[in-house]
Amino acid sequence: MGTSSIPVSLRNRLSKKRVTLTSGQLKVGVDVFRNLIFFLFLLKWTRKAALQLKGRGILGTLLGAYSSIQRTLYGLFLRAPVVRSQVKKQVADSIAKLEGKLVPQGPGISRYLTLPKEGWTEQQISAELSKLGEMEHTRWEMGKVSGTVYHGGNDLIKLQAEAYQKFIVSNPIHPEVFPVKLLLALWRETSAHWLQGVRKMEAEIVAMVLSMFNTPHGGAGVTTSGGTESILMACLSARQKAYVERGVTEPEMIIPETSHAAFRKAGSYFGIKVHLAPCPAPTYSVHTKSVSRLINSNTILLVGSAPSFPHGIIDDISALSRLALSKRIPLHVDACLGGFLVPFLSRAGFQTVPFDFSLKGVTSLSCDAHKYGYCPKGNSTLLYRNSSLRSYQYFISPDWSGGVYASPSIAGSRPGALLASAWASLMFQGENGYISACHSIVGAAKKIESSIRENPALRDDIHVLGNPLVSVVAFTSKSLNIYDIADGMSDKGWHLNALQSPPAMHVCVTLPIVATVDRLTEDLIAVIEEEKEKERVRLVEGRGKQGAAKGDTAALYGMAGSLPDKSVVVQLAGGFLDTLYKA
Ligand SMILES: *Cc1c(COP(=O)(O)O)cnc(C)c1O
Repeated sequence: MGTSSIPVSLRNRLSKKRVTLTSGQLKVGVDVFRNLIFFLFLLKWTRKAALQLKGRGILGTLLGAYSSIQRTLYGLFLRAPVVRSQVKKQVADSIAKLEGKLVPQGPGISRYLTLPKEGWTEQQISAELSKLGEMEHTRWEMGKVSGTVYHGGNDLIKLQAEAYQKFIVSNPIHPEVFPVKLLLALWRETSAHWLQGVRKMEAEIVAMVLSMFNTPHGGAGVTTSGGTESILMACLSARQKAYVERGVTEPEMIIPETSHAAFRKAGSYFGIKVHLAPCPAPTYSVHTKSVSRLINSNTILLVGSAPSFPHGIIDDISALSRLALSKRIPLHVDACLGGFLVPFLSRAGFQTVPFDFSLKGVTSLSCDAHKYGYCPKGNSTLLYRNSSLRSYQYFISPDWSGGVYASPSIAGSRPGALLASAWASLMFQGENGYISACHSIVGAAKKIESSIRENPALRDDIHVLGNPLVSVVAFTSKSLNIYDIADGMSDKGWHLNALQSPPAMHVCVTLPIVATVDRLTEDLIAVIEEEKEKERVRLVEGRGKQGAAKGDTAALYGMAGSLPDKSVVVQLAGGFLDTLYKA
């Protein structure tokens, strides 16, 4: 358009009339402009300050400011030249030690750092694979590993491998939504067959999972590569919805501090500001009043866990749902861990609470098929109350030179074979299979919980956090260092999880663990006795707590917990990730 749309007469007049400003007028103009900018700036920060005070209260704000000052000062201290070189050296030492443990070295180890010139024979590969399989790994078969392997049954594994093999070349990135592709696929008889089969299985996995959560008519879902992707997509969908429908450009979400780290990842990837809502003792479920106070016009999503990873606690989803409804904000329920347990609790004979789409405020729910769904790793689902919520996570590029591109989630090409083995696993297990597994697993968790609460050799030294209803039992100690107990259990071959803020540990019961519950209790009693004995010796020798030799967990979390600035922990963790890629 430009000037050509201005009528000619007006244009002439404009060009004739010279606008001349005296320097005084100019100065006034600049002043007004400057004041306006200052006013807007002030408005923005006043609003931020008001929201901060509303969200955290005066005391919370002061405490926050205090710890942020402490963090900054400590950060400066770490950056002082002498300290920095010292820290750098210690971090390097620790990482070198880790490498020594993780990366096998020595004359017996062959390393393959380039492609073999000629491909190997099947026999060679098979022999090498067997060797690799025997390299040191955690012995989940013994039932001493928390989480990780949820089923492990041989017949299921065989079935999954068979399903995988049948569909090994399939890739559902070419769904037949476009007539061209469909025609092409129909023309190539066989590929049409794969596509149809995988598409059908994927749609059925979603339908079966939807049917477990009281989903109303019109509910929709997708499969993803894991809980993290499901959570990322739920946050993205909420962000896009708020942008399109409410024009929110500075999105914020409120998550329980105990909710999974994947939500923080979503915040970091998608530019969503994350507010952590406290989950205080004794319930360890999210404090709904705090969530309410943190809501503002930028809030795009509320979150609750069913249950949470650290403490296995189901947040008060009913209260969150009421809040979400009254403020008209989406609510995501993270049932990644409990998705195949919580729906079956009451039929397995246990107490339960409402947590799913039966609560009107719940708009999305993530449920991992690769945990208690017993599918191979790489399988999760994300469900929505309606399909318009789902379409906010779609990525469609209509003008790409490679063709009209449409994909439902992060992945481009996807392994159809994994979907086939997931479908096979769900069909194999069946509803009764899941109910009976729930009965064994939650029953075992209850047994662990009641031993800790009632056994005289345990109840005085450790106590359970909150009231867990599902498969995770978290506990801590007032009399002993809980991380020493974690290290003691590691020495006895257990792989339990260490938790922080507050220091604690948990066991996540899986089918392989069910049979070893009594052993777990016995070992816990023994470890606690050993720790108390060490404490007595230390007292007698007058060495105090400092004299104690620390195991790995106690050393890491002891340090992490005592530092106001976590940059050293971040360096160590980054070094650990590097180590994973040392060939
Ligand atoms: C495991 C888990 C996730 C994340 O799932 P991944 O499959 O590891 O990406 C999310 N939330 C909870 C509660 C979990 O236990």
